[in-house]
Amino acid sequence: MKRVYNFYAGPCTLPLEVMEEAQRDFLDYASTGMGVIEISHRSQEFKHIAEDSEALLRELLHIPDNYRVLFEQGGGRGQFAALPLNLLKEDGVCDYFVTGHWSNCAQKECNERYGKGVVHECTFLNEKGLYAVDFSKMTVTEGADYAYTCLNETVNGIETAHHLPDTGDVPLVADMSSDILTRPIDVKKFGVIFFGLQKNVGPSGMTITIIRDDLIGHARKYTPSVLDYSILCKHGSMFNTPCTFAWYMAYLNFKWIKSIGGISELEKRNIKKSDLFYNYVDKSDFYISKIAKDCRSRVNCVFSLKDESLNDEFLSLAKASGLVGLKGHKVLGGMRASMYNAMPYEGVAALVDFMQDFASKHA
Ligand SMILES: *Cc1c(COP(=O)(O)O)cnc(C)c1O
Repeated sequence: MKRVYNFYAGPCTLPLEVMEEAQRDFLDYASTGMGVIEISHRSQEFKHIAEDSEALLRELLHIPDNYRVLFEQGGGRGQFAALPLNLLKEDGVCDYFVTGHWSNCAQKECNERYGKGVVHECTFLNEKGLYAVDFSKMTVTEGADYAYTCLNETVNGIETAHHLPDTGDVPLVADMSSDILTRPIDVKKFGVIFFGLQKNVGPSGMTITIIRDDLIGHARKYTPSVLDYSILCKHGSMFNTPCTFAWYMAYLNFKWIKSIGGISELEKRNIKKSDLFYNYVDKSDFYISKIAKDCRSRVNCVFSLKDESLNDEFLSLAKASGLVGLKGHKVLGGMRASMYNAMPYEGVAALVDFMQDFASKHA
């Protein structure tokens, strides 16, 4: 078996240890004589998976007691609808801090279907012609039901986790689909945090929502039951049959994170990997990053070749060298190397070596 370095943005590479453990459990989980995807979500065995995964996530993120953790379906986009349905009053207002593709999709879902989301365009081209984000001039609408932000724009490669917008008493909702568990966060600063599993945690299809108690119980009457936070809470995220396999994979991943030293260790590794990558891009005259240094994502490294006519050749030679998934998102073009928690330093080093080699052949 040959495993490549997988730079896809999601679904994405997972730790080899986690994949191997899942393989062992696939046919016979905990000596039940049944595979892990064959056991009932009501069984004792699955109950342990459900309880332990929540306990581990609470420990890793230091989630305070007044927050609930929900394991849901419908991916990230499911939450784009669930949020206004649960938090935005019929005649209410909310604010969207738009920094890139995904926060823009979220505001559209709200504005085209559910109510008034004021759009604040926060990404602009700075004096050097680079994409930069500035929240400092943005103010939330008085009496807004929530303010929304995406801490890491997966498509654009823009990360803003280190300078959050100031929303005062208005609850801040954050899409952390692609940066959850890659750096420490202070959960208390948020009303709601949600993330799809497929960018750092496990397979696609499941979303985890971390929500402050007082924000539960205000859903509109016609909210689909499967998106209603209070119904999901009441049923321990088992109102309908949950994505048991995705949930189990999240559990294995949380155990792995704990075993290697938790989020602070992962942050160190992610800084080391992204520094290696951007330092090379910055000193090369063959590749460019169009994003200001203080907004560059550590996990979705977006870059381009100065000569874009070489894109196809770059991608096919990379693939032949075992470096897969480097093509940028279709709305943006260019290249993107996603280096989430499970991408080893050696993978990024191999990518940089390849880029150097490719550049010298075309100089
Ligand atoms: C991938 C992604 C989404 C969309 O997730 P789906 O599960 O495909 O709906 C939303 N937000 C961010 C930041 C993402 O990276």
